[in-house]
Amino acid sequence: MTAPDTGLAAHEGEPVTIFGPDFPFPYDDWLKHPAGLGHIPNDCHGREVAIIGAGMAGVVAAYELMKLGFKPVVYESRRIGGRLHSEPFKGAEGVIAELGGMRFPKSSTGFYHYLDRCSLATQPFPNPLAAATPSTVIDLEGKSIYIEDQDQLTPLLKEVGAAWHEALESEANFRAMQSAIRDRDVAAIKQIWNELIPTWDDQTFYGFVANSAAFKKHTFRHLETFGQVGFGTGGWDTDFPNSMLEILRVVYTNCDEDQHFVVGGVEQVPRGLWKDQPNDLVHWPAGTSLNKLHSGAPRPGAAKLDRCGGNKVRVTDSWGDQREFEAVLVTCQSWLLTTKIDCDETLFSQKLWMALDRTRYMQSAKTFVMVDRPFWKDKDPDTGRDVMSMTLTDRLTRGTYLFDLGSDKPGVICLSYSWMSDALKMLPLPVERRVQLALDALQKIYPKVDIKSHIIGDPLTVSWEDDPNFLGAFKGALPGHYRYNRRMFCHFMQSDMPVAQKGMFIAGDDVGWIPGWVEGAVQTSLNAVWGIVNHFGGGTFSNNPGPGDRFDELAPLELFDP
Ligand SMILES: Cc1cc2nc3c(=O)[nH]c(=O)nc-3n(C[C@H](O)[C@H](O)[C@H](O)COP(=O)(O)OP(=O)(O)OC[C@H]3O[C@@H](n4cnc5c(N)ncnc54)[C@H](O)[C@@H]3O)c2cc1C
Repeated sequence: MTAPDTGLAAHEGEPVTIFGPDFPFPYDDWLKHPAGLGHIPNDCHGREVAIIGAGMAGVVAAYELMKLGFKPVVYESRRIGGRLHSEPFKGAEGVIAELGGMRFPKSSTGFYHYLDRCSLATQPFPNPLAAATPSTVIDLEGKSIYIEDQDQLTPLLKEVGAAWHEALESEANFRAMQSAIRDRDVAAIKQIWNELIPTWDDQTFYGFVANSAAFKKHTFRHLETFGQVGFGTGGWDTDFPNSMLEILRVVYTNCDEDQHFVVGGVEQVPRGLWKDQPNDLVHWPAGTSLNKLHSGAPRPGAAKLDRCGGNKVRVTDSWGDQREFEAVLVTCQSWLLTTKIDCDETLFSQKLWMALDRTRYMQSAKTFVMVDRPFWKDKDPDTGRDVMSMTLTDRLTRGTYLFDLGSDKPGVICLSYSWMSDALKMLPLPVERRVQLALDALQKIYPKVDIKSHIIGDPLTVSWEDDPNFLGAFKGALPGHYRYNRRMFCHFMQSDMPVAQKGMFIAGDDVGWIPGWVEGAVQTSLNAVWGIVNHFGGGTFSNNPGPGDRFDELAPLELFDP
């Protein structure tokens, strides 16, 4: 184990990234170091490693393991990309709806490493009040306000924003933490975060806000308005029951700031990696790609996992084909290990099973339509304002987003993006009813605009909880879940595990600390790569240590967990 050669000075004045706070390892530096992620013994070249799931976590792991000389064998029950799902509108070229992840904060430096590898372009996401958003309408309790710049916020909205910042500063040392993250000052991050963990693991987001001195000096109306308008990306009362630790991670690491969308669809990232032919391959001939190693498509979904002779794990696919592996990485949502895959209980400790099963997923629904043109930029002759705007409302649509692909091209409207109880209201409804309900709600906000006259093609919708391959959109940890998060995140460190549990790895955004953000899928996937390399007797280069090499120094705080 060698200390990293990346000095603090190199990061001074750099932007906030998703660096910690729980495990402040520089995944981005590890990835871009010319030495590469590590090496495996020559007799492991070509050895097969099973990967369950071809979402971002599965594809990243497969890609890096292939580069190191392994032969990844990827199983996928639905489609490459998983929750990075860019669904094309039928009949149009290049017009898509982002059914899963759609806005990617620049602080996701691991994710952007792979996006850049695929040479994809991004543009600022049209969030509420963002510079890229021509106008925003906030419609609450039947009254709408139209905003082109922050100065037009009402006194109530300004007070709510100020109270949120004040609460973060006084209760959670916000500026000091952001400055420590910027400086990659591990000691300072640990000092602040380790003090906050025991307090805020017990508290909901709602409890944090409602009990803060900053909100207590205001009225319930301020709290309620904050719940409707939220911070950064809107609609945050749906997260009120979540552990406050989860919210703090999001704001500390700027997940809610400077977000971009991927031109042409984010699914191009995992699909691009799948087809990519990296030139820094060990063992494999030039021109090798995951696609070629798999004859064009992943293997079918995994139906069963059990231990077989010689400490191997057997994967049985949905057609009954069986293969044996020395290492298996599971990247699907953890509930699927009890609902979709017949998983031998002895593969994980009972403590880990408790964490995997207690993981709590949030629901999410989205409904999109394609329209003939970005008509919302037309001006209302009476007011001179845009006829329609990015809209946040307490009505059932909650968030409506407008995607302008160019004045001469069709536009896309995400009529409604909702979570939790708002998403459950949509669950049993067919797409036509969802569109109608959204149009009815928007009609009340924009009585002069006939949105439906602009709709072309068929609408698209999704409820992630309705799909047996996911059972929910993403984890939303509850108070008391810190220990479960820690058990799952640290599972890649296997040296002290009983032999019967070694060789099984887990990754994905629900294994990470910031669920609902793809960077967690990337970071946990890289942890698993380190763990698998180690499992086969390989290691990292002394000038580029990996997450496991620095684990003792960076490990997340351990709370008493008898
Ligand atoms: C509605 C929504 C909005 C989001 N918004 C954002 C955002 O704006 N920004 C952001 O950064 N992130 C966002 N995310 C999160 C982001 O999409 C995820 O973090 C990321 O895509 C998760 O990747 P993963 O590989 O961990 O999991 P997944 O993408 O779920 O991959 C797991 C794969 O396993 C497959 N699978 C399931 N069962 C089996 C089986 N038995 N055998 C084989 N394969 C199986 C699944 O089909 C899936 O393809 C959003 C997610 C959702 C759902």
